[in-house]
Amino acid sequence: MTPTLKTAYNPENFRQQAHSLVDQLADYLEKVQSQPNDVLAIPFEEPESTYEYWKEDYQAGKGEVSDFYEKVIEKSVHIHHPRYMGHQVSPPLPIAAATSMLTALLNNGMAVYEMGLVSNPLERLISEIVAKRIGYDDNSGGLLTSGGTLANLTALLAARANKTSVWSDGNDKKLAVMVSEEAHYCIDRAARIMGMGTEGIIKIPSNEKFQLRAELLEEYLEEAKNKGFQVICIVGSACSTSTGSYDDLNAIADFAEKHDIWFHVDGAHGAAVVFSEKYNYLVAGLHRADSMILDWHKMLMVPALATSLIFKRNADSYRTFQQKAQYLWDNQDSKDWFNSGKRTFECTKLMMSVKIYSIIKAFGEEVFTENVNYLHDLARTFSQMIQQSSDFELPVVPQSNIVCFRYIKAEEENSNKLNSTIRQQLLTNGRFYVVQTTLNEEVYLRVSLMNALTTENHLRELLKEIGQIAERIVR
Ligand SMILES: *Cc1c(COP(=O)(O)O)cnc(C)c1O
Repeated sequence: MTPTLKTAYNPENFRQQAHSLVDQLADYLEKVQSQPNDVLAIPFEEPESTYEYWKEDYQAGKGEVSDFYEKVIEKSVHIHHPRYMGHQVSPPLPIAAATSMLTALLNNGMAVYEMGLVSNPLERLISEIVAKRIGYDDNSGGLLTSGGTLANLTALLAARANKTSVWSDGNDKKLAVMVSEEAHYCIDRAARIMGMGTEGIIKIPSNEKFQLRAELLEEYLEEAKNKGFQVICIVGSACSTSTGSYDDLNAIADFAEKHDIWFHVDGAHGAAVVFSEKYNYLVAGLHRADSMILDWHKMLMVPALATSLIFKRNADSYRTFQQKAQYLWDNQDSKDWFNSGKRTFECTKLMMSVKIYSIIKAFGEEVFTENVNYLHDLARTFSQMIQQSSDFELPVVPQSNIVCFRYIKAEEENSNKLNSTIRQQLLTNGRFYVVQTTLNEEVYLRVSLMNALTTENHLRELLKEIGQIAERIVR
């Protein structure tokens, strides 16, 4: 070994560096939780300026890795900050982050059983836990994959394998998927990747609550058939990304069963309610779906990425990627759950199940239930706060922990421009991190309440700060 490699692998060096990193991170969490006023939720800087910063850092050459860590912490978005309420990313539980260090170091690639002796069985166990919560029977099963985007693509591929022979014979038919116009953009992207083109993505209009209008499905199907399309799959959103609206899954299931169309539920964000008896009514009918996905890195406090893809009939999952890979496994046909790579897009895969299981081991599944309930309760409180104020309005009463709203007091102003400017000001101030969305051509501010450290008071503060910003703009 060269001297550098010897130092780089030295266990004592690791012990010291990793211990000091844990101290840095614990100090950081403590500060964000106890003195949030001393830390911005987002230390926003323009892209060119941050690039220049790192370029200079690189030119300065090697240095202490702990100094580098400090800068990374300082310059990042602070997801654990109680005033972080932007995109739908979990503040990961520290224990799961610690487990990430474990899995990164062990680095078991998972594609075949031998390379994932712990993570493959745990993955089966985790899938069974979710399947049971959904209400699937013993025929069900699933897997973990790297994110909701990939999980949705995988589900659509499973649907296609189930309804056509495209996988082996190539494409000779016009295929289509039906989906609400409010669905996450990754469904559209997946369908395009699969060669369905613009016309193959049949977007069903939504109602005033931003839910798919199930009463239009027959009409849209008829039209697609007349144009020569075979609809292979219909996707329900549970919930949608913009407004957190849940589609009527039972209505979609009725339609899918009647026409022998694969029913997939994109529960990346909202299917986490399967852990809550208080809120699982939002996904009534989920057990009728042929497949569903659930992001553990959204409401379930696991570091990104970790997504469950669960099938009502586990056997379906083996048809998705039927291929021969002689050096990995002898027989593609056998349904060996323990060879992860047979059913997932990834070959080498992260040991996601170990991270998820570490939370269950330490705190039990109750911790998921409590988080889901707290975040949903908080969103309902915030929604009432907005309804009670004459300065703000809601586009829709929120069903999930995603709340859209806008400032309306200054009637003479262009409301879209005003709300965009408010959002831009919030971003540059950095005290709060909220995002924006456009609904029916109106600009709304949007919060995802992902953080159990966020309280009613932070939300009151947010409305106050927005009011102050707006007054300064209008004046
Ligand atoms: C977040 C989200 C996705 C994308 O999932 P990633 O894990 O970010 O790839 C897909 N669908 C919905 C409804 C989502 O909320």
